[in-house]
Amino acid sequence: MQECPFCQIAQKKLDTALVYEDEHVVGFHDINPKAPIHILIIPKIHIATLNDLQNADTGLVGHMVWTASQIAQTMQIADLGYRLVFNCNNAGGQTVFHIHLHLLGGRALTWPPG
Ligand code: 5GP
Ligand code: ZN
Repeated sequence: MQECPFCQIAQKKLDTALVYEDEHVVGFHDINPKAPIHILIIPKIHIATLNDLQNADTGLVGHMVWTASQIAQTMQIADLGYRLVFNCNNAGGQTVFHIHLHLLGGRALTWPPG
């Protein structure tokens, strides 16, 4: 799926610096950050939306959440607090159709979201 921008980032075909990488996921700064810390954690495999998850993917999604918690600690926002967000499809605000976990922090975040 060469046309998917996040597949291209995961395959290092774009000039996007990675803040985290392991066998299953990569993390990188959002190009249009909504908070002082705004990292995206994506799986290396292409999954378009949360609606496309299979039961076999639950370990991968848990690993994405764990990875976000590790990045939050590394970036020293864990104690202050942070938010993890998955957007799904148009009404959920999804614009890139390769699942990604937003890690947002570095300021007080309002609730409810818009
Ligand atoms: P969504 O709205 O789909 O939940 O989030 C997509 C996010 O990806 C947006 O916050 C957007 O700024 C970010 N984004 C889109 N294209 C790129 C890109 O090519 N590089 C990076 N680093 N972020 C991107
Ligand atoms: Zn993709």
